[in-house]
Amino acid sequence: MMNDAVSLRAQLLRWLVAPLVALNLIAAGVAYWLAWMPAQTAFDQSLADTAWALVPHMQDSGPSIELSLSQQAEQVLRVDHFDSIFFVVRDTKGRIIAGDLDFPPLQIPPKYNSYVAYSSHMRGEEVRAITLSTLINGEPILIGVAETRVKRQQLKLRIFWSLLVTELLLLLLVILVVRWVLAKGFQPLQDIQGELAARRLDDLSPLPLVATPQEIAPFIRAINELLQRAQASGRAKQEFLANVAHQLRTPLAGFKTQLEWLRDHHRADTDTAQSADLMLASTDRMVRQANQLLALARSDPGDFQRQRLGRIRLDQLVSTSVQQFVQQALKKHIDIGFNLQPTEIDGDSFLLRDLVDNLVDNAIRYTPEGGQVTVSCAALDGRGVLRVEDNGPGIPDAEKEHVFERFYRLDQTQAGSGLGLAIVRDIAIDHHAQVALSAGHAGRGTVVSVTFPPATAPSAQAVPG
Ligand code: ATP
Ligand code: MG
Repeated sequence: MMNDAVSLRAQLLRWLVAPLVALNLIAAGVAYWLAWMPAQTAFDQSLADTAWALVPHMQDSGPSIELSLSQQAEQVLRVDHFDSIFFVVRDTKGRIIAGDLDFPPLQIPPKYNSYVAYSSHMRGEEVRAITLSTLINGEPILIGVAETRVKRQQLKLRIFWSLLVTELLLLLLVILVVRWVLAKGFQPLQDIQGELAARRLDDLSPLPLVATPQEIAPFIRAINELLQRAQASGRAKQEFLANVAHQLRTPLAGFKTQLEWLRDHHRADTDTAQSADLMLASTDRMVRQANQLLALARSDPGDFQRQRLGRIRLDQLVSTSVQQFVQQALKKHIDIGFNLQPTEIDGDSFLLRDLVDNLVDNAIRYTPEGGQVTVSCAALDGRGVLRVEDNGPGIPDAEKEHVFERFYRLDQTQAGSGLGLAIVRDIAIDHHAQVALSAGHAGRGTVVSVTFPPATAPSAQAVPG
């Protein structure tokens, strides 16, 4: 679908450039005509001057008029750097008095002592000619002068090329200006795109409307309405999920108690006891999944209010939380160690319990029997840092981003829903904390470290030990 999309900017550029090119061509035509016409008149005028120069050399010699022109004078008249010049002197009856016999037919000017200019052919070449009509001793005389068109063609070409270059430069300049203007015009849209692209996946807060051009404001308002609806519907789903998970916990707890009673009362019947044990294991998994769903709903960063954070002793919270895992670790002969230094952070104790529980649960769950897990916390440069390290199989580099996705799992042999690290990430976002995954000692195992920002909340809330 994206490949079919047309670029509005390219479209606008095309729409603007096509008429601009047409306009430029018309302007160039007019400029060409305006430049050539006066030059043509000047050239014609100079031909007329040549004709006038012949007039003083005409004499009335009795019965007819003659032209007395020395050879030298005639040469001067005919000489031009570029063109050949021809002439003829005729009376009105068509008798040629002097000049070139093959001079093309003359066009007669309407009045005496005036000339007409026209194009004609002579000796196989195109020529420009004029005819001057005058009276010599009362006798009407026509003088024709013609010249080849070399000079004129040269000038025409020069005008053409200078116009072409000017117009092309102008067009280039206009295209550059139009492109710049379009880029500036589209900047607000680009800004919105940047703002949306830089957001977290679940950030549905409205787009800012300040400094938005009038034309774009309705569009942004529509997007904002959509975002608001998406946020409301997301919140409704989240609440529904939290409610369902919460509601499931009580009946599951009752169910578990009944199963334990059943197992204890039928210990003699091994089949029943074994079946009850299997059901208990399944029930434990269901309880854990319900808890994970509840934790996921609670930690949603889109819905989290930062004012809920208060001053917390991370070391105390971790030592409380870890106690429930000692049994689990013992069962797998995992050596679990602690290094908990007094560490204060701003946090929400319920959410942080979920975070610590999930990290420690992963470390114990995915580390093989006889392994080692170390949980530590300390304050480094005012920042609280929590580290959960194990010497298990580790997480490959290529999977490091993916394991934070919901329902993404690597190790299918262990029970789990794939929500633990997604919950950890959401809670870290709630706390403006950074989560990093790396390898442990000698490149083996996994280290998850969570770095919290320096604490600013008033120190009142302490976690009971
Ligand atoms: P849940 O925690 O919801 O019960 P889960 O443990 O499968 O299920 P996550 O905690 O999100 O889900 O972990 C995702 C995957 O990352 C796990 O399936 C596991 O393969 C891998 N993983 C997580 N922690 C470790 C670890 N410490 N060592 C090795 N692999 C790990
Ligand atoms: Mg897990």
